[in-house]
Amino acid sequence: MGKTKKLGPVARFRERGGASLRKVRAEIERLAKQVYECPKCEARAVKRQSVGIWKCKKCGYTFAGGAYTPTTKIGVIVKKPKET
Ligand SMILES: [Zn+2]
Repeated sequence: MGKTKKLGPVARFRERGGASLRKVRAEIERLAKQVYECPKCEARAVKRQSVGIWKCKKCGYTFAGGAYTPTTKIGVIVKKPKET
């Protein structure tokens, strides 16, 4: 008795931490690869050029935004659905 007790909680904790971290990274990559709406011509043609640089394929408008999304607002909305 008590043999499996020793490793159980530690192993489970490690697994959980790694899994959530991988999930966050996958979500960031998903956001970075998405096509966003252009603030100038409103066409869904904005793609990430590099970290923080976004360019509209339709009108050629280039602007600086968030590292993974053109506006940091998106992240706020996802995290806080109810804003007071
Ligand atoms: Zn545009």
